[in-house]
Amino acid sequence: MGEPRARGRFGEYGGRYAPESLVEACREVEAAFREAWADPGFRGALAELLTLHAGRPTPLTPARRLSQELGVRLYLKREDLAHTGSHKINNVLGQALLAARMGRRRLIAETGAGQHGVAAATAAALLGLEATVFMGERDMERQALNVFRMRMLGAEVVPVTTGSRTLKDATSEAMRHWVGVTGDSHYCVGSVVGPDPYPWMVREFQRVIGDEARAQCAAELRTGVPDHVVACVGGGSNAAGTFAGFADTPARLTGVEAEGAAGAARGRPGVLHGSHSLFLQDDDGQITPAHSIAAGLDYPGVGPEHAHLRGLGRARYVTVTDDEAAGAAIRLARTEGIVPALESAHALAWVIRAAGDGELAAGSTVMMTLSGRGDKDISTLKELL
Ligand SMILES: *Cc1c(COP(=O)(O)O)cnc(C)c1O
Repeated sequence: MGEPRARGRFGEYGGRYAPESLVEACREVEAAFREAWADPGFRGALAELLTLHAGRPTPLTPARRLSQELGVRLYLKREDLAHTGSHKINNVLGQALLAARMGRRRLIAETGAGQHGVAAATAAALLGLEATVFMGERDMERQALNVFRMRMLGAEVVPVTTGSRTLKDATSEAMRHWVGVTGDSHYCVGSVVGPDPYPWMVREFQRVIGDEARAQCAAELRTGVPDHVVACVGGGSNAAGTFAGFADTPARLTGVEAEGAAGAARGRPGVLHGSHSLFLQDDDGQITPAHSIAAGLDYPGVGPEHAHLRGLGRARYVTVTDDEAAGAAIRLARTEGIVPALESAHALAWVIRAAGDGELAAGSTVMMTLSGRGDKDISTLKELL
């Protein structure tokens, strides 16, 4: 998984479908990122932030009791232990450092459940930047605690009242807002979506998950490489970062989507938020609403690199239901003492199903990214107990 080809293309997907002023701003972000990523000084500064502030490297934990029950050897890459509770911090620290290097004084971000907004507000506070976070009005009601966390961190939270008043609309609004302020503000996209260079840049900032996991597997496993690598897919950033570490190995890559938000498994080609990719849409090409019990998976599409990996057959994309995910969350809590985010529980639900139906051979090794912790989901989970 290297650089995209000309003009930010992953095969036929990707690109930069944006108004002219944003195309120019994206060019500036791309030039700045290329230069920074080739600079050992930038890499060193980011590595230090990830260690001292975000708690990296995160452990690779053998799930001993659950493995025994399932008949496979399951290892968990513990992004739930990263600062602010998920992998999102890896990306925002990279982009905040880049924004400061570009002389920008403010971060703009969109957020659904509030996890990316909280991470962006955290990175902004750490580096002395301002933060403006766009959030659907409906999500603000559902995720009041994260709204408060963002305000506590000094961010301005802007309610979005258009459309379904959720993540898709917050993203559109954040992009519209950026048009007028590209000179002093950096748009910090939260996943491997959006116009080039975001899908590529965000994957590079999340690659730390896969690189660490690869080295940890090399030390832990007799074969050095797991048979299977599994991650949940919303926009696809934790999966892209995970897969990047194993792309050149024989490991089978599986992305797990929510049944009601399966952009990669069931979407059709289209353009949304500046990128050509796979989206849920009707016969007129209108984007249809996504649904998932996990707010972080509640997005009607998937990043262009996943569309490409699916096309190549290098990764496969499968789905699980809300009930399967909730059941997996409870099972992990009771076998391993870990309450996972409902997003991450999707990946585990597929592992449980696949171990049961023989899709995962007995005794095979599985490296699964546990993208976040479940504190934010307690009110949802308590209804199910
Ligand atoms: C946001 C989020 C996701 C989904 O985002 P990706 O870009 O697909 O990784 C998954 N898990 C958690 C815990 C999240 O917060």
